[in-house]
Amino acid sequence: MATEYRNFINGKLVPARSGKTYENRNPADTADLIGVFSASDAADVADAVAAAKAAYPAWKAIPAPARGEIMRKATEKLIARKDEFAKVMTREMGKVLKETRGDVQEAIDTGLYAAGERRRIWGTVAPSELPNKMAYVTRQPMGVWGMICPWNFPMAIPSWKLFPALTCGNTAVIKPATLTPASTANFVQCLAEAGVPAGVVNVVYGAGGTVGEALLNHPDVAGVSFTGSSEVGRRVAEVCGRSLKRCSLELGGKNAQIVLDDADLELALEGALWGAFGTTGQRCTATSRLIAQAGVYDQLLKMVVDRAAKLRVGNGLDESIEMGPCVSDAQRQTVHSYVEIGKQEGARLACGGGPLKGGAHGKGFFYQPTVFGNVTPQMRIAREEIFGPVLSVIKVKDFDEAVRVLNGTPYGLSSSIYTRNVNLAMKAVELLEAGITYVNAPTIGAECHLPFGGVKDTGNGHREGGWTAYDIFSEPKTVYIDYSGALQKAQIDNVQD
Ligand code: NAD
Repeated sequence: MATEYRNFINGKLVPARSGKTYENRNPADTADLIGVFSASDAADVADAVAAAKAAYPAWKAIPAPARGEIMRKATEKLIARKDEFAKVMTREMGKVLKETRGDVQEAIDTGLYAAGERRRIWGTVAPSELPNKMAYVTRQPMGVWGMICPWNFPMAIPSWKLFPALTCGNTAVIKPATLTPASTANFVQCLAEAGVPAGVVNVVYGAGGTVGEALLNHPDVAGVSFTGSSEVGRRVAEVCGRSLKRCSLELGGKNAQIVLDDADLELALEGALWGAFGTTGQRCTATSRLIAQAGVYDQLLKMVVDRAAKLRVGNGLDESIEMGPCVSDAQRQTVHSYVEIGKQEGARLACGGGPLKGGAHGKGFFYQPTVFGNVTPQMRIAREEIFGPVLSVIKVKDFDEAVRVLNGTPYGLSSSIYTRNVNLAMKAVELLEAGITYVNAPTIGAECHLPFGGVKDTGNGHREGGWTAYDIFSEPKTVYIDYSGALQKAQIDNVQD
């Protein structure tokens, strides 16, 4: 019998009102059924939002340090069950155990950060322009937050949203991606066991078009935190715009690593391999383009191809495996269609380029690590997010062209430059249009205590991660206290002749 995962509403596990369910299977071995989940709709979202709304006044009234203490206790539970949760995540998402342990660890680090930040939900004190008057800004929670997550960081991303939002005093309804719901279930179970009261956090499983849309459109949802594709992000922004809901968008990327002629090539190689094929290329910060200066292009391309072709691809539960499957058959088909587009556009397929099907690979959605050479910046494989193990290598003549090419996509999440020239490294930091720039390090590897997000089509200016997440999930309130005993008028011309 498959484990049944029900929605978590008002502290109780409840089936979808429709009674419908869907299966969650292992993308490395489709015979492995992780569980059967509620296939919810707007009625279930309405129940969850009502529970979150009812729980809000009492939760808000608890001092932030006490709320944060519950976050700390939940984090201890994550620490105790890290290996178990990582295994479930590898089974539902496919990435290798080292990476899923890293994903749970990121949730742990985010929880520990919240446990500190609870004592630091600071405001500002400013001098008043009038005598005997005090002015300060405090921060308040906002109400019910809707949270919509992608599948590639199944526990880290829910933790980036829930830990700061709850610590700030909000309540929440979270919708995990349909492909990776079990990791959210595990995370929220830790929150509940640690003492988060009934209704403060609610989970509704199901599709974006039903559960996601219902969250966006619900009048009692004060804000929406969305991580996913730019296409769906636009839709989220449109719907939230109509009702003036705050929305925080963390969207897609087409990240690039520049390698200049003077770079340490071995270091650049390691960075490119990790950036391009880690998480099977399914990271928003994945290195999708390698921009190599003409003097090192041929050599670097050869080095990358030699190593990419040898990567061990398979079931991530095997510790010797370096790259897992694509998350789904549909994702693998998308990857393959881009490979076909690349070939038609005239790029040179240097290695890979097809699904892996024989033997143990036949049970899942595996794809060869793929490298294209002779890619030009106008090609679709150089401009559009592929979200798979495909690296496009582009030759440029100098630093200026490298910067132009890197900036030449609609996205702006992560960027990297390998060089020993400190002046060019600093210039790159200034010129690269991205929310994150790495020097002599790959495009992946964000740390949870720093702002995370991007420019252009990658987002709308918010940064989840670090202290900036606490700005997203709170409202400033400006307070004036007049202790003069008289009517003092501000904002009129008080200047005496
Ligand atoms: P997606 O946009 O297809 O789905 C994301 C979530 O939105 C899912 O839960 C989905 O069910 C839901 N959704 C779909 N349609 C919806 C609608 N109409 N209304 C409301 N919700 C809806 O993305 P994905 O395939 O799950 O994840 C991959 C994408 O996420 C990539 O583009 C990747 O770059 C991006 N991503 C970005 C970041 C970041 O922080 N910038 C992090 C991880 C992933």
